[in-house]
Amino acid sequence: MNYLRFAPILILAAGTALAQAPAASQADAKPAPPTPIKSFDLSAIDKTADPCTDFYQYACGNWVKTNPVPSDQVRWARSFSLLRERNRYLLWQELDAAAQDPKTPLQKQYGDFYAACMDTATVEKKGLSPIQPAWAAIARLTSAKQLPGLLSQLENQGTPDGFFDFSVGQDDKDSSRQIALIYQGGLSLPDRDYYIVDSKRFSTLRAQYIEHVKRMFVLAGDTPQQAAREAAAVMEIETAMAKAFTSRTDLRDPANRYHIYKVADFQKLAPAFDWTAYFKAIGIGHFDTLNVATPEYFKALNGLLQSESIDSWKSYLRWHTLHGQATHLQKAIFDENFDFFGKTLTGQPEPAARWKRCSSLTDEALGEAVGQDWVKQNFPPAAKESMDKLVAALEKSLGDDIKTLPWMSDATKKAAEEKLGMLRKKIGYPEKWRDYSSVKVNRDDLLGNLHSSAVYERNYNYAKLGKPVDEKEWEMTPPTVNAYYNPYFNDINFPAGILQPPFFDFTIDPGVNFGGIGVVIGHEMTHGFDDSGSQYDGKGNLREWQTAEDRKKFTERTDCEVAEYGSFEAAPAKGDTPAQKLNGKLTLGENTADNGGLRIAYMALLDTLAAQGKTIDDKIDGYTEAQRYFIGFAQVWCQNQTDESARQSALTDTHSPGRWRVNGTVQNFDGFGKAFGCTKGQPMYPASSCRVW
Ligand SMILES: [Zn+2]
Repeated sequence: MNYLRFAPILILAAGTALAQAPAASQADAKPAPPTPIKSFDLSAIDKTADPCTDFYQYACGNWVKTNPVPSDQVRWARSFSLLRERNRYLLWQELDAAAQDPKTPLQKQYGDFYAACMDTATVEKKGLSPIQPAWAAIARLTSAKQLPGLLSQLENQGTPDGFFDFSVGQDDKDSSRQIALIYQGGLSLPDRDYYIVDSKRFSTLRAQYIEHVKRMFVLAGDTPQQAAREAAAVMEIETAMAKAFTSRTDLRDPANRYHIYKVADFQKLAPAFDWTAYFKAIGIGHFDTLNVATPEYFKALNGLLQSESIDSWKSYLRWHTLHGQATHLQKAIFDENFDFFGKTLTGQPEPAARWKRCSSLTDEALGEAVGQDWVKQNFPPAAKESMDKLVAALEKSLGDDIKTLPWMSDATKKAAEEKLGMLRKKIGYPEKWRDYSSVKVNRDDLLGNLHSSAVYERNYNYAKLGKPVDEKEWEMTPPTVNAYYNPYFNDINFPAGILQPPFFDFTIDPGVNFGGIGVVIGHEMTHGFDDSGSQYDGKGNLREWQTAEDRKKFTERTDCEVAEYGSFEAAPAKGDTPAQKLNGKLTLGENTADNGGLRIAYMALLDTLAAQGKTIDDKIDGYTEAQRYFIGFAQVWCQNQTDESARQSALTDTHSPGRWRVNGTVQNFDGFGKAFGCTKGQPMYPASSCRVW
């Protein structure tokens, strides 16, 4: 089980996941100060392109041509990646200083954590000893009946083990209750499709994966014959699990992941595993019912527990403890892991420098400790006041938009306004910081520190069972370049990390600022009203508030976006690998949020300009405010991505790639065609288009 709660929070963009992804290396580029990021970049524009034909090419073409993906990345985005690099550099300065000369107990804790991660000599010297206790426990397994005891023991030590995800979270139908949740889990490849889709690309990847598992076991000391047997067992079990997985697309619908069971009935669903014993052994409080998000998976797991040999389960568990910690082990293991999970799967040529990975890892483990100092340096109180004003402007626009929606009945409009009226906002960083005092940090024990952190996160989560919810809690750390909407809290959240140029810039004209942070705010607000978010009410409960007739019209409108985005290409054909289309259903919520965000931020811009006595036609550097708004917006999404990573994202990422976040939205919004003087019928100003909000 990993301890990351499966939270259907709706974020702005997929992260780079440096901390989990294989990324560290011995090849260490020295930290260098980041280059400033322009909020509006004239040099990015490709003036040979026609904005009415392909606006992304126009706004980003030159940038895309001159900014290939760096060798330590898989995706390189003008705003996100550059700001993430900048924030991480600032974080590194803090961590490096704390590691050398801590001034406070917090600095001592995170400084030591960072130092332990950087200490490759000790990591090398320890070799596999940090995972030996787990392997010894697995070796003692003699019957599947002992699995609940073994899994709980591994979990209590903070060791990853696969199988399923168990956690505590809010009840979809009563968001004031915190209940036990259990989800499918236990795969190593990025998605179930990698195991089950019959294509040349996937069968090649499967063969490469098996070879990788074999090599890892050999590196860990097994004979080639043993390793081959173990790899076959891992592949067999994971493939059977994958076949029983509910797809990511189906999981987007809350109804598909809500199945309340009495513990006794869950025991009957999957009797081969003693759940009661397991729940007792992991030290969580008593509960009578739980949400079994994916019952089909647990039925299949039950069958597997009976059909697979005990040796196969041992191989599976040995693999998950090794694979789950491979990026923190010695160089030989790290390199082999990177070779498959980095190079082969995502097309990343080189691992990132170790200081980058260790900075991200420390942020992930102790983010609210590191963040306290980070916001003091990087988030002045004035920024929060400006943000409050911007959010209020966007809220007003969404309210105006709802009032004038052509397709919605008055009854549903009233309910939508009510939900909007209950929206909560969190800006910058938490009011109350988490207490990490129980995380044991030793300067010479990277994996020990990670185990302690995992146990801390697990206990922190389990302690919520049956307790009142804490609305002030954050799901992201302060330096994070992202934002999210949480349907259970009906709140929008903007970490200090994104409230920086080029997203948030008060030295620039309102057009560009609204195209940046304005659209981000509008995007998060619209999540409350997308295909998934709209199923929750203002209190965060899964409850229909649209009339049946309006829900039908809503679905017709979202179906329009499903078809539209489903026709876009995520990756072109390459050699004998066919082109990869976007999944219009998987990306529906994000696309709806992008479209709503662009529209309501534009409305808020008009209001703001009017209040300042300016107009949308005022020109700066040859562009009107309206044009600068759309170019500023588009330039947030200029990006390059490796082919392998683009194909993986098309299956796993709920967000569309940059090109379609731009062209998909502007072609749905008449304001764009008007701003650029396009002729009705041109690609970016079509005769008919999709609109939800
Ligand atoms: Zn989003």
